[in-house]
Amino acid sequence: MRLRHWVVAVAASFGMAGNTAAQEAPATTALVGATVVAIDGGKPIEDATVIVQGDRILQVGPSASVSVPAGAKVVPMKGKWLIPGLMNMHVHFGLKLPGAAGAELLDEQDGEEALRMADNARRSLLAGVTTVRLTAEDHGIDFMLKRAIAKGQAIGPRIESAGELIVPTGGHGSLEADGPAEFSKVVRQQIKRGASWIKIAISGGISDTHGSIAAAPMTDAEMSTIIEVAHRNGVKVTAHNGSSEAALQALRFGIDCFEHGYHLNDEVLTRMKAQGVWLVPTIVVSQPGAYEFYKKIGSPDWYLDRVASTGKDHWAVLQKAIQMGVNVALGTDQFPFEPNGGTTATVAEAELYVKAGMTPLQALQAATIQPAKMLGIDKQVGRIVPGQYADIVAVSADPVRDIAALRTIGFVMKGGAIHRNDSDPATIAR
Ligand SMILES: [Zn+2]
Repeated sequence: MRLRHWVVAVAASFGMAGNTAAQEAPATTALVGATVVAIDGGKPIEDATVIVQGDRILQVGPSASVSVPAGAKVVPMKGKWLIPGLMNMHVHFGLKLPGAAGAELLDEQDGEEALRMADNARRSLLAGVTTVRLTAEDHGIDFMLKRAIAKGQAIGPRIESAGELIVPTGGHGSLEADGPAEFSKVVRQQIKRGASWIKIAISGGISDTHGSIAAAPMTDAEMSTIIEVAHRNGVKVTAHNGSSEAALQALRFGIDCFEHGYHLNDEVLTRMKAQGVWLVPTIVVSQPGAYEFYKKIGSPDWYLDRVASTGKDHWAVLQKAIQMGVNVALGTDQFPFEPNGGTTATVAEAELYVKAGMTPLQALQAATIQPAKMLGIDKQVGRIVPGQYADIVAVSADPVRDIAALRTIGFVMKGGAIHRNDSDPATIAR
């Protein structure tokens, strides 16, 4: 059997080599004349040329020292600043919230949901978001969408997904389990389907009608089992959490990340800093920019009251976390492209980080290299350097001087393909 497999593999590789020889070399694109922002700090490269071959960055440097290969597609970028594609670490492409808009989706079939999610994925990419982490979707549709995007059947960001949200019975989520045996089963099921993260809810949520946000309903045995099983499979665990008691319990068992952090106390933040645990703030959901959105979707009064009461604590926690140097990765819990404060939720989130104490560069890092590091894919994405995937966004002002420059995104490349170019729509691959 082994020999036969080998013969088949060799035949296949010869076949591929033959095809490649018959085809043209991978497409080469040169982005010429922009300033490449120094995402790790230091000096930017002015009047730069970025050579992209196939889906990767081949060369980056001053135009005077980088020659454009013959036959390359040249995209003029004078007056633009290039940054790595944005990364949004708290996204639900199938998001349904309480209210009129959510009620319309009550009878949504899986096929309809897949198409709606694909549309949201495409709109996210066009808003400059080239990588997302999905933090709970329905029925494995996220994994289907991820495969479709990877095959080029749908357009969207790179996807890391946590699959379904795992909760104890009555918790803030749909995949219920109780006791260590059931929890280890559901964690393994999600990983088998393709989850590269596990998401659990260890306290109540803003959108729940029952239970308290501050409760910590999981037993030690349940929580430690979830984290151990995930880690044994090389998968990280994040928790929807608004409770310091539940947070401390999860920190004892080695949790990797917390979402939101609505009401975390100083002890929790200190331990997060010491253990290198990530915070994905989703601060946009509780601040005034989102009220317009909640009105638009017809959110009920009790929901708006909960948002307002949570907002003050949420903001104070974010300020403290930034001050203490806790690892922050940008996430919105709104669609990445959702209008918020006159821009998109993703950009509004980054602007709020600056308002809460980050420098513009730190906020930019929280939207690029920090998420890449959190996901463990920082050798592949997050920087404009040779060897990485060509996930590149252009803006019309320097985002290191003013983060609001992200409002001017007019060019989006993912894996070497131009998906948006407002200056020259003719360059977009179709
Ligand atoms: Zn969420």
